[in-house]
Amino acid sequence: MDSLWPTLAALGWLGSAWAGWWWWRQRVRRRALEDAVAAAREESRALRFRQQAAEREAEAQREALLNSMGEGVMLLDHHGRIRLVNPACRQLFGLPDDVRGRTVLEALRLHQVQELVERVQKGGQVSGHELDLPGLDRPCLQVSAAAVGSGEGQPPGMLLVFHDLTRLKQLENTRKEFVANVSHELRSPLALIKGCVETLQDGAQADPAAGPRFLRMIEKHADRLAYLIEDLLTLSQLDAGQLRLRLEPVGLGSLVARVMDDLAAPAAGRNVRLRNEVPAALLARVDGERLEQVLANLLDNAIKYGRAGGEVSVGARPAGGETLEVWVRDDGPGIPSAAQARLFERFYRLDKARSREQGGTGLGLAIVKHIVQAHGGEVRVESEPGRGTAFFFTVPAGPC
Ligand code: ADP
Repeated sequence: MDSLWPTLAALGWLGSAWAGWWWWRQRVRRRALEDAVAAAREESRALRFRQQAAEREAEAQREALLNSMGEGVMLLDHHGRIRLVNPACRQLFGLPDDVRGRTVLEALRLHQVQELVERVQKGGQVSGHELDLPGLDRPCLQVSAAAVGSGEGQPPGMLLVFHDLTRLKQLENTRKEFVANVSHELRSPLALIKGCVETLQDGAQADPAAGPRFLRMIEKHADRLAYLIEDLLTLSQLDAGQLRLRLEPVGLGSLVARVMDDLAAPAAGRNVRLRNEVPAALLARVDGERLEQVLANLLDNAIKYGRAGGEVSVGARPAGGETLEVWVRDDGPGIPSAAQARLFERFYRLDKARSREQGGTGLGLAIVKHIVQAHGGEVRVESEPGRGTAFFFTVPAGPC
């Protein structure tokens, strides 16, 4: 029995050594496992962080894109409620900041847009549909709408894109109006010329009093046609930017004197006195030929529409910086303030019959404005009914 004790003791010692080793190994494994779990958690946290940063960046890019778009964009959810509108859309419809969650009809109060939304909800298509909305600041819109996935397994929402056509329509109307005006302006002198020719052919030719009268009428209306075509060509050159200005120092006083000489006959015809009050030393840096055209138009108008037996003066002064201000003043009947804003429009006349009678084309002031602007200047009118009219324009000053 005694000989068994050492064996049992050794076995006992071995047992406890194995238990210790097993406990230690388990601890090491648990710790390794814990470390691996912590590392995985850290990794997934970092991944989530990177995903959120990427989402934030994509969101910021989307927002910058929407904010910079000229088109109005509206996104609806599958209930037809607004999820998002961009600033252009807000501006087009004058929307407040908080339209999220409202229906299109609640937010815009426009049945025409609501009908389009319903059409797309029923599976229809809306592409380049033109809307005429007279109550809005920008009344001509083009809209396209399409169903889009609203995410999270929801039924599709809808994207509406509004394009502002107002300016384009205005330009189109201006063009149509211009063509109609030109046709009318060409047709009336032609009809008058034709009438005169027919009258002459019908026998007036042999009449010593009527013959020359009809020939003078033909000449007058042919001249009117020639002025009109010349003015139209000038305007089309100005519109196309084909006008090459040859800027050079020009003595303003002597240029005004030349124009006054050219207009001495019509001024004498209405007994109008012309006064050149431009200081002799004043130099402008302009295209002399074009500036003559500006002054000739303004002086011709002042003689035609001013007071018979009255006075027309031209003056100029340095206007600060490197600019000169020039004016043409008459003591005629003046221009009502409502008409002043429209004077520089093509074919605008206060008194159409009088303008035509005087050989006017209705394009003179439009040409003046173009030429002055091509020199970097501005033109304006000051007038009071019964107290005369003054046209002012600025041009670059010449070297001192
Ligand atoms: P028009 O060929 O008819 O003279 P303009 O463009 O030169 O065309 O002028 C437009 C209109 O402005 C004229 O028809 C006239 O009614 C008005 N107007 C221009 N200058 C004067 C002025 N000095 N006094 C009064 N009315 C003027």
